Amino acid sequence: MLGKIFADLYKAYGDQQWWSNYTPFEAMLAALLAQQTHLSYSKAALEQLKHHQALHPKTINKTTATQLAIWLNVANTPNIISAELVVKKAKQVKHYSQWYIKQGGFKELKKLDILTLRNTLLNINDSGIDKETADLILLYAFERPVFIIDEDTRRIFYRLGLINGDEPHDELRHLMTLFLDEDVELFNEFHALLAHHAIEHCREEPHCKNCPLDALCPE
Ligand code: SF4
Repeated sequence: MLGKIFADLYKAYGDQQWWSNYTPFEAMLAALLAQQTHLSYSKAALEQLKHHQALHPKTINKTTATQLAIWLNVANTPNIISAELVVKKAKQVKHYSQWYIKQGGFKELKKLDILTLRNTLLNINDSGIDKETADLILLYAFERPVFIIDEDTRRIFYRLGLINGDEPHDELRHLMTLFLDEDVELFNEFHALLAHHAIEHCREEPHCKNCPLDALCPE
């Protein structure tokens, strides 16, 4: 079933190439910035940092959280992120960059095994990284085979009758790896396709007409 879902989504939406042009550090920030908000905000905020030549851990470390908040306060996105959350994100990004430098950067962190790296990410003081964000960082920055569980995935798989929808995060993540090869490219593309599907058709109010998963869906 999961293989068929992937094939049908891929046929409908094609290659997503998610974050393929990001450096590992940019992919980490993209995941951090998307937490509790939306990918469109994350993308726009990264562009802002790039515009101010601040897409580097050392530059972020030298910049005040107040200045970062000004840069991260992306125009045209107040409907998807509040001013309070922008301030929180600025502090998060700064804490993360400080931690990243202290750890020796990508070169040292990539030596850690997947479990140690995941636990390390989840326990960074003041960064507030949740499980979904840690998994995004593992998959997109460190190229580790982690299946991403987020609200979109839960909603789509629930509607397809695959899950109850309220299973714990780690249980679902593990469950997916029982039915899929632990393949970085597959997990990368699968998550991107599910995110695309959640925007195109399987929104909170589903738009089922012409849905590419219609034949598989009991809804
Ligand atoms: S048919 Fe409707 S509910 Fe089922 S996957 Fe498609 S959009 Fe979602």
